[in-house]
Amino acid sequence: MFFVLLFPLFAHADPVAVRNLRVWQAPDHTRLVFDLSGPLEHRLSTLKDPNRIVIDMDNARLSGALPTPETGGPILAGVRGAERSDAGLRIVLDLKAEARPRSFVLKPYGDYGHRLVIDLMDAGAAAEDETRPEPATVRRETQALAVRDLVVAIDAGHGGEDPGAIGRTHRTREKDVVLAIARELAKLVSAAPGMKAVLIRDGDYYIGLRERIKKAHRHQADVFISIHADAVPGVNRNARGASVYALSERGATSEAARVLADKENAADLIGGAGANDKDDLLLKVLVDMTQTATISDSLDLGTDLLGSLRTVGPLHQDTVAQAGFMVLKSPHIPSVLIETAYISNPDEEKKLRDKAYQRQVAEGIFNGLQRATPRLQARRGAATPSQASGPREHVVKPGETLAVIAKQYDTHVEALRFINGLGAKDPPAGRRLRIPPKAGG
Ligand SMILES: [Zn+2]
Repeated sequence: MFFVLLFPLFAHADPVAVRNLRVWQAPDHTRLVFDLSGPLEHRLSTLKDPNRIVIDMDNARLSGALPTPETGGPILAGVRGAERSDAGLRIVLDLKAEARPRSFVLKPYGDYGHRLVIDLMDAGAAAEDETRPEPATVRRETQALAVRDLVVAIDAGHGGEDPGAIGRTHRTREKDVVLAIARELAKLVSAAPGMKAVLIRDGDYYIGLRERIKKAHRHQADVFISIHADAVPGVNRNARGASVYALSERGATSEAARVLADKENAADLIGGAGANDKDDLLLKVLVDMTQTATISDSLDLGTDLLGSLRTVGPLHQDTVAQAGFMVLKSPHIPSVLIETAYISNPDEEKKLRDKAYQRQVAEGIFNGLQRATPRLQARRGAATPSQASGPREHVVKPGETLAVIAKQYDTHVEALRFINGLGAKDPPAGRRLRIPPKAGG
């Protein structure tokens, strides 16, 4: 009886309607997102002469003409669709250059339904996770570690598929205003002697939360600042002011902080992040090993930031709150998340749209960073192999392999690769490596 009831659902299910297409351009890939009426089976094939990618979808149809996609990027030249005789749908992506495709599906979340994501990885560009030569500033200095520029990773929250919170009056998107603030902050940092900025996101595309952490490690960041604008749902228009958050090892400092962390952590479900179980596991192990010291440094940094942000506008809370924010789980990098203001408050929404206010917020963050800089420098400068806790550094000797170095410091090759942003190859002699602290250190 059970079978009789279920069978028709599978055998004669309505075809999945492909309803819409959005294209997002990231530095190393082009992302296409198809809106679907339900879950879908699909296959990808890559064809040459001319370069194109074929997406075969089972039991699917177009619900209308797809919008003409943005083709200003380096890869995508056009999109065509045709229904096949077997009730399937074939979509052909015409390419300007060779690309490595990857795809995944996103389940419904919030305002979003089922989606199919196709990433066209730029085959010409060097893979972001490969070992790169050290920047000249690092290679030049041979003795004092403190000589190296302080690398500030600036993370504009959300992006691409994930707009973040939306303002009530002007439909202002969090992803846009936080990118504007991030760029202002990067300008200030780059102009400061002894400091270097790395923008984790520099355009309207989504980067997975774990990938943001990895990117910060690849650039050997000394500090990580994630920039957001908060919103409260419902009728409350009055919540206002800035807050600063750090990771907590267990539990959140308040129910509101826990709810906020859940909301921010859902970004991957909206923006779309390919799963990488290996990285997840490694990150968990590294975080468990090293987090206590890093959280304590993050709290100090957050206190400095609150001290300077209070000169820009009201604070929503005047101490650093803590919760389980995924994007703050860097094993070694003091990391904070700043909710700059409430985009759900009409007055603050108006201010967030204002270029001058965006610059003031960036200055507030920058001033706090400057207060924290001596400590952040000392944190790195004090890192010597004799210390059991805190980060240590090792300069690779000629012929030395990662396996040998891992053994010397009683750690794992994969851990060294992750926190130093290394690819599959052994690092060259002279390369400075971060060494994870000893377990329990
Ligand atoms: Zn946010």
